[in-house]
Amino acid sequence: MPKVTIVGAGQSGLQLAIGLLGNGFEVTVVSDRTSEEIATGKVASSQAMFDTALQHERDLGLNFWEEECPPIESIAFAVPAPPDSPQAGGKAIDWAGKLDKVAQSVDQRLKFPAWMAEFSKRGGDLVIHTATAADLQTYANESDLVIVAAGKGDIVRLFERDAERSTYDAPQRSLALTYVKGLAPRPEFSAVSFNLVPGLGEYFIFPALATTGPCDIMVFEAIPGGPMDRWADATDPAKHLEVSLSILRDFVPWEYERCANISLTDDGGVLTGRFPPTVRKPVVTLPGGGKVLGLADVVVLNDPITGQGSNNASKCAASYLKSIVEHGDRPYDEEFMRAAFETFWDEAQFPTIWTNALLGPPPDHVLQLLGAAGEEPRIAHRFANDFDDPQDFFEWFMDPDKAATYLADLAKS
Ligand SMILES: Cc1cc2nc3c(=O)[nH]c(=O)nc-3n(C[C@H](O)[C@H](O)[C@H](O)COP(=O)(O)OP(=O)(O)OC[C@H]3O[C@@H](n4cnc5c(N)ncnc54)[C@H](O)[C@@H]3O)c2cc1C
Repeated sequence: MPKVTIVGAGQSGLQLAIGLLGNGFEVTVVSDRTSEEIATGKVASSQAMFDTALQHERDLGLNFWEEECPPIESIAFAVPAPPDSPQAGGKAIDWAGKLDKVAQSVDQRLKFPAWMAEFSKRGGDLVIHTATAADLQTYANESDLVIVAAGKGDIVRLFERDAERSTYDAPQRSLALTYVKGLAPRPEFSAVSFNLVPGLGEYFIFPALATTGPCDIMVFEAIPGGPMDRWADATDPAKHLEVSLSILRDFVPWEYERCANISLTDDGGVLTGRFPPTVRKPVVTLPGGGKVLGLADVVVLNDPITGQGSNNASKCAASYLKSIVEHGDRPYDEEFMRAAFETFWDEAQFPTIWTNALLGPPPDHVLQLLGAAGEEPRIAHRFANDFDDPQDFFEWFMDPDKAATYLADLAKS
């Protein structure tokens, strides 16, 4: 049976590893952290996942938290009224689109340790070690295929940036996460409550399942150096919560009102950071001649503004699994690796281009669509459900002519 070595025990690495075990492959996963270290460490993501990505987990019997995890039932969208307008302090835009199938977010500190145990239980070989470039050559000598699924780990620098497919070369947002309990729920149904503060950044919040039980995750996307970027002051978890609340109070007061009784889930429930969204070339040729293939964030790293990273990681793992299994007993050479990535890129280009577009100032036709969604629930519904498969945004949202045709068609029907 072919032997596959995967570096990185995260969303994509473990999902692919367990999928390969189910198809009879011999699989080793190399993790730089023990499951104990992951479980008791800091959060790295808000990991909201939509139905297609969740279905890939269900297909492998990895949906251990489906009953327990609070559902995300809609995408809500709000824009504050301009500060100098009579509505200042209120919302200029405010609507919600229901999701046909709920989204869910399971804390990676719960998920990864449980999946590591499941991987071992199903016969996989889990090695705790921080893989280096030299190790990759050793793995390449010993394995039929080596895959690097190390997320944002240092080893990823071995993969060359693809300048043609990367829109930005610098971070576009200063990011922060705050995991809280005690938040007042939204009326009617739960949501990713997405707030766009023009020129300053974005804030969104949604229910999730953390290591401590149900919680809500605040995600801050501040334009670097702007008034929402106060993260230099978040020097410990208590100050991080204070900064989070100060941003809500000053820019999205209706979200601040939900926070009267909140506290952090735990001291590890906070994160700050920034990175340039980057597409990388999928294959590295090591000095010793070995070749390795990048998976998920290693090759397509998007800003979290659209919550696509874990979704892409799940989709990339599912896509590579299919490519590997269908390849039969032929060698997993460079040609195979490039083809496997291009098959994934055929779908990953859509969330990537859409996500990069949302990091820039919204063009007029997007403002028109987002405004019209408040009056026309079909727009809100389509917007919300396209998070599951962003390719559809290219049929009505990403192009001014298609947007005009769509609005005209809606007006007629
Ligand atoms: C602030 C923020 C919010 C986010 N919110 C969302 C969201 O709401 N929805 C969504 O879909 N996505 C979100 N994401 C993105 C999502 O978390 C990632 O895209 C996803 O986890 C990527 O999966 P992966 O398998 O590529 O990497 P990861 O899940 O990061 O796993 C990589 C693993 O490799 C390990 N590793 C690294 N280097 C080595 C090494 N040398 N040797 C061995 N192991 C190594 C790491 O410890 C890690 O466990 C968010 C990201 C951020 C930063």
